[in-house]
Formats: sequence, C-alpha cells, structure tokens
Amino acid sequence: MTVSVIRGGTVITPAGEVQGDVVVDGDSLLAVGGRWTRAADRVLDAAGAIVAPGFVQTHVHLCQTAFAGLAEDLDVMEWLDQWVWPLEQAHDAETMSAAARLGVAEMLLTGTTSFLSMESALHTDRALEAAADLGARATIGKAIMDRQEPGTRLLAQTREEAWADLLGLVGRWHGTENDRLRVAVSPRAPSAATPEMWADALELATRADLIVHTHVNENRGQSEQVRDANGRRDVEYLDHLGALTRRAVLAHCVWLSDEEVSLLADRGASVAHCPTANLKLGSGIADIPRLLARGVNVGIGTDGAACNNSLDARREMTLAALVHRARGGPRAVDAATAFTMATHAGARALGLGARVGRIQPGMLADVVVFDAPQFVAGTGESAIDHLVYSGSGLRARTVLVDGRVVVDDFTLAHADLGAIRAAGLRARATLRARVRGSEAGAVRP
Ligand SMILES: [Zn+2]
Repeated sequence: MTVSVIRGGTVITPAGEVQGDVVVDGDSLLAVGGRWTRAADRVLDAAGAIVAPGFVQTHVHLCQTAFAGLAEDLDVMEWLDQWVWPLEQAHDAETMSAAARLGVAEMLLTGTTSFLSMESALHTDRALEAAADLGARATIGKAIMDRQEPGTRLLAQTREEAWADLLGLVGRWHGTENDRLRVAVSPRAPSAATPEMWADALELATRADLIVHTHVNENRGQSEQVRDANGRRDVEYLDHLGALTRRAVLAHCVWLSDEEVSLLADRGASVAHCPTANLKLGSGIADIPRLLARGVNVGIGTDGAACNNSLDARREMTLAALVHRARGGPRAVDAATAFTMATHAGARALGLGARVGRIQPGMLADVVVFDAPQFVAGTGESAIDHLVYSGSGLRARTVLVDGRVVVDDFTLAHADLGAIRAAGLRARATLRARVRGSEAGAVRP
C-alpha cells in the first residue's frame, strides 16, 4: 500500500479542528493529527492550509454542464420546455462526454469529491466514464421518463427501452472502480415514470442496493400538476408508490405540506437542498430549518449548471447558510450545520455515511487541502467558519479521492484541463446550433 502524508494543516475532524498530519494508507485514512514520523511514500504540504473532507453533492446533472449560459431568467417550466428538453434531446455521445467531463472537472477543482447526478434519458455511460477517468466518487442515474407527457415528449422512452437502459448501466458500472462508481434509480419526477416502472425500479433498488433519486416539489405549479394527475401531493404519491425510504434522495422539496415533512422524517428519506437553482428559477426557498428540526437528513446540491451556473459546492454551502436567515435570524442554519450538510449529511444521503464525509481513521481518503491565505491557523479562528463565509483566495490546492491525488497544485492530475474546456465549448456550440435548427427551437425568440 502507498502511504501519503498531508502535512501540517488545520484539519476539520468530527471531534474539532486539530493541527497536524493526515495519513493516508491506500484508499483509507490511517491517522489524523500530530506528526507522522514513520516512512511515507509521498508528503503533500498543507502548512497554513485547511484540510477538510471533500464535499458531497446530492443533486447535479452533468449533462447540463454544456448548457450553462444558454437559458437565463426563466421560470422552471419555461426553462424546461424551451431549453432543457430540446438541449438534452440534442445530445449525442460525444457532446454528452464533453459536458460530463467539464462538470466532473469543475467539481473536483472546487473540492467536490462525491456527487449524485441525474443524467438525461440517453448516453449515461458517458457520464460514468467521465467520473471513472477523472477519479471522482459518483452515483449516477439515467433519467427515467417512460410516461408520455406533453412537456417531456422529446425525451420519453418506452418502459421497455428505459428498463433495458437501466439494467445495462447497473450491470456495466455499479460497484466498479473499487466501488467508487454506483448507479442510481432516477425517475425524473414522481409522475415522469409510470407506476409499473416505479414498482420494477424500486424492487431493483432494494435488490441491488441502489439510491433512488428524483425531483420533488420544486415549483408550486409543477406540484399542483402532480396533485391533479395523481390525486396526491408529491411526497404522498412517492410514499404511495413505496419510494419513500432511506434510499430516497429528493431534490428541492420547496413546497412541502406539514404532512409531507412528517412523512420524510418518518421514512428517513433525504432532501437535496439546491438554494441557488431555487432562487435563480424563482421557485422559492425550501424551509430547511423546519426539515432539520424534524430530523430530516439534508444535503446540498448545485443542481445542473444550466440553472446555477456553477458546480461549486462551497458557494452552495455559503448560500445554504445565509438564505434562511432572512426569515429565521442569524442561527437559522449556522456554519457548522451548513458544513455538515455539504459533507457528511450528503454522504449519508448517498448511503456512504459510514465511510465518506468525515476525516477520521478508517474513513475513505476523500480529502481536500484548501489554500486559505486569509486564514490564520492556531489563533482560535474556525476553519469551518472560514470555509463557509470566506470568498476569494480560498481554492482547492490538492484533492484526494479514494486516497488518490486527483487535483494537484490546483489542476487536474489525470487529464488535460485545457482540452476538457475546449471540448466543452465545442459541445455547447454544437448543441446550440442543433436546437436553433430544430422545430422545438424555432418557437423561441
Ligand atoms: Zn435537477
């Protein structure tokens, strides 16, 4: 096994912030704090830096990374109908690969080591390949959309097509790369999949130990559509389907009734809080303090780059700490709570809580060394406060996933960042041209 020492930083641990070394043995953490005097194969300098568990994002869409900047200042229904459905439909394997690599690169470079992503209906292998190649820990699902609805007609598959795709992904990818890659069951929304598909997919999730990932109560109008179509509110409908378990990760949850909050708490489902996307699309502000008070596990996510336009978890964590204070005062979501949401609570949501999201011996070595030029170690300043509130200058210098250095000296260790960015820009131009030339695109200004 290779032993690496991350030397001399301020380390954020579950027991508090300590000065000293973090020792990595193979894919796991061997020791934390103090000074390692035994042999090491590699020493990574962290003097003056903050050493933190890698961020865990609970809701992203790699396929949308190529759409950033194309669809601004719209509400979610316009955004989906006019842009996201046509653009996702326009993806081919090559543009999907470029978008996914760009997204994974941005997340690693900003300190996200694990993420849960929902892709489009097609080309999901390309997203898993990107995570495999660049070294991220990823749980990725294809969007299941076998229920024909007007807004999703461009992407809908038959039940047989969607099922075959899902089984293929599980067979090819789930548990591969030292269990770094996993496949999720991802009906795009409660009513995007048929009840028959939900039943089969949930049975598969139980049998193969898969996360169930969907969008819930993002927009008030959408939620009313679900209620009209199914006779139940989103969360009640999911519970009726049997989907509301500890495997469930529900993105947004902006418009929940008291009964829905109780159901989430009782069933142990997790919520993915995406405050930037909710604000940018004007969807509302999820009542996260109410969920936390009821004991619901809440992680954070940037959502897709098309409605954010950033995949930087730290920015999302900052907003998650601040936005609820407008109504709830300065301690509505404090810095430590926001940090936990962005790390260990996210890992719990992904079923990884026993091994990911904390720096302590025995956990997997998913670690970020943040250059923090304005942080003064050893003076009582809180590294967590600094990570949550500080702005420019705080950057991920070194990132390890599974004990392997994937970001070294602020750039990707195993891929050409310039080539990834160039391919991402080409993909965006290609998709834009395809949508402009399509029937769907022709209705837009
Ligand atoms: Zn989303």
